[in-house]
Amino acid sequence: MRAPGEGSTRVPGGESTRAPGDESTRALGDELTRLAGERRDELVDLVRSLASTDAPSGAGAEAMAPAADLLAGLLELPGGRLSRTPGPQGDLLELDLGPGSGPRALVLGHYDTVWPYGTAARRPVTLDGDALRGPGVFDMRGGLAAAITALRLLGPERLPLRTTLLITPDEETGSATSQARIVELALESVWSLVLEPPLPGGGLKTARSGWAVYRMQATGRAAHAGLEPERGVSAIDELCDALRAARGLARANLRTTLNVGVIEGGTGANTVAARAQALLDVRARSVAEMERVEGGLRALRPARPGASLDLQRLHVRPAMERTPAVAHAFRHACAAAALLGLDLAEGSAGGTSDANLFAHHGVAVLDGLGPEGGGAHAEDEHLLVSSLLERTALIGLLLAWPPELTVADRRPEAD
Ligand SMILES: [Zn+2]
Repeated sequence: MRAPGEGSTRVPGGESTRAPGDESTRALGDELTRLAGERRDELVDLVRSLASTDAPSGAGAEAMAPAADLLAGLLELPGGRLSRTPGPQGDLLELDLGPGSGPRALVLGHYDTVWPYGTAARRPVTLDGDALRGPGVFDMRGGLAAAITALRLLGPERLPLRTTLLITPDEETGSATSQARIVELALESVWSLVLEPPLPGGGLKTARSGWAVYRMQATGRAAHAGLEPERGVSAIDELCDALRAARGLARANLRTTLNVGVIEGGTGANTVAARAQALLDVRARSVAEMERVEGGLRALRPARPGASLDLQRLHVRPAMERTPAVAHAFRHACAAAALLGLDLAEGSAGGTSDANLFAHHGVAVLDGLGPEGGGAHAEDEHLLVSSLLERTALIGLLLAWPPELTVADRRPEAD
């Protein structure tokens, strides 16, 4: 499970605020490892059945219904309280286990995939040695299978916290319908375990870049480029100057990037352009950097009399920083992993997940708890069955042995 590679540092197991494993915790770890091993075929079959059911993100509730039905059946656990909330992009599935009140732990996953309807039939799941291949197995049917199995192995009586498994239908297309419930539950939870794929080698994602998309529009005044160009105000010139200034907001040393991905405008070579627009993609490692760039973009003013400049933010995910709460959760996870005989690495990821929705509020979050594998969103998508077993035991132990965190541990500056 060790993740070498860029941005990755390993914390030796055992560093936690709790004594790392009294005998009963160690015995539970051994038991979970043994039980996960005994259920290898069951785990593989669970991933296989999930990956054999299409769940195309953004295709609407009807397309998602077979996957939601399958999951709802799998979530019928003894002592569980399952609720299913219909939505335009598919049902939101929420399973509550353990104590009916008190501090909560959130386990967060999504069942939609980037694969269109028909992919499951075209590309059936295959097992090739340790590699299980199929659409969505890595992102994130493997993580779902591990969490569901861990909850089955534990049973409600071994969960010290009220434990909520929330499985959403629209992560791959921006979580528009599930965002509010995700944030609501995360803010009530002492910590949150996110079932996204890990870093290469299995490291957890304890930081993620923020991401924002902007549309910048310039307007000017059309005129004949040969007869009376002085009557025109070029929106393209205005936009180019603004984009040049915008590019100056990037900071390579901080890994703050600004990409102008689309540019369009004008009506013909012989006409001074009345309109032009561009789409900008901004990524940054910290909330402060995201705010600095947005402030810089909003401060841009048109340079030409008669021109105007307008900025719209189309999408935003705050950066997930390695807050003290995240660091604490990771140290505890290392201690739990050590009890299972595993090394756990951590690192940062350029992509975003639903963890970006709430980490900036100071919620302790561990992301990348899904099994190792590769080929996310690609034809060679696969997971490693050995890692699926390890993650099942690890998730189980984390749920049975949570860190000593409370909601009040959150950073005071968090809004
Ligand atoms: Zn995912």
